[in-house]
Amino acid sequence: MENTAVKLNLGVILCKHCSAIIDTVDSENVVTYYSVCQDTSCADRNEMCADCD
Ligand SMILES: [Zn+2]
Repeated sequence: MENTAVKLNLGVILCKHCSAIIDTVDSENVVTYYSVCQDTSCADRNEMCADCD
């Protein structure tokens, strides 16, 4: 009997400003994506930092 109650998501999406975990995705490999979370301060920084990639 296998216990598969916990499903592992190997891909994680982090906020590039505050490193909050935004979401996890199924992936064959361990991968990290960067995006911007819903926090207003992070969204503001993103708009103010168009060249910060
Ligand atoms: Zn953030």
